[in-house]
Amino acid sequence: MMKDYFSKLTSEEKHILKDKGTEAPFTGVYNDHFEAGVFICRACDNPLYESNTKFNSGCGWPSFDDEIEGAITHYEDLSGGQVRTEICCKKCDGHLGHIFEGEQITAKDKRHCVNSLSIRFKAYSKLQRATFGAGCFWSAEKLFKATEGVYLSRVGYMGGNTDMPTYKEVSKGTTNHAEVVDLYFNSEKVSYTTLLNLFWANHNPTTLNKQGFDNGTQYRSIVFYHNEQQLKEVERSINEQQKNWENEIVTQIICSSTFFRAEEYHQNYLNKNSLGNCGI
Ligand SMILES: [Zn+2]
Repeated sequence: MMKDYFSKLTSEEKHILKDKGTEAPFTGVYNDHFEAGVFICRACDNPLYESNTKFNSGCGWPSFDDEIEGAITHYEDLSGGQVRTEICCKKCDGHLGHIFEGEQITAKDKRHCVNSLSIRFKAYSKLQRATFGAGCFWSAEKLFKATEGVYLSRVGYMGGNTDMPTYKEVSKGTTNHAEVVDLYFNSEKVSYTTLLNLFWANHNPTTLNKQGFDNGTQYRSIVFYHNEQQLKEVERSINEQQKNWENEIVTQIICSSTFFRAEEYHQNYLNKNSLGNCGI
């Protein structure tokens, strides 16, 4: 007989996982949650989704464009007069939600629409963070996303003076946010120094508030450090790098502050749109 994984759940959790209910949109704790870690089944702890597959679909429920291999069972669901694909945890058969395709929000073009009450987040606490501003964040993300050892990359805004800025606001240059790529990386696979070297090698750190055709403070060259060790590394490397440039490096070195994730269409932009680089 199958173990009763549902006996210790709250009535709200049971309503979703056992009775195939749906929580109200925009009410779940993970709807707007974009940290590095894994989402496990709330009933049986089975790992279901890596957080680097999570995206913001705007639907009001946590959305993922891929599952951990072998973690999930797909069922045809004919309820409600439509054909849908229901998804359940493979280990305990608890209801998670449904899958939708063809919305073209991410490159994989799938949306696992999952109830927050069906899952629980476990952070990858050993990963480190790094945050760089090197002009247009589309190119910076493409570069770091492809780097071995980077688990999660996301683009957004940091270092400004308003909360929850939009791209439109940041583009005006009045909020003082920089366009940044924010990374979680495994330092056993890639060092902070290697990431810094990639940062230096892929933009011009001597042009003030300007990269190529992009002008404005949002495009400034900037490193947001996350600890004293990173600060020391940046200061050491900036002196090294200066030897390669005739003009003075104007890169700012600032302590990290709140990261505001950019609108979903900016995430993984160049890969999603099959573009080589910005401005093409
Ligand atoms: Zn389960």
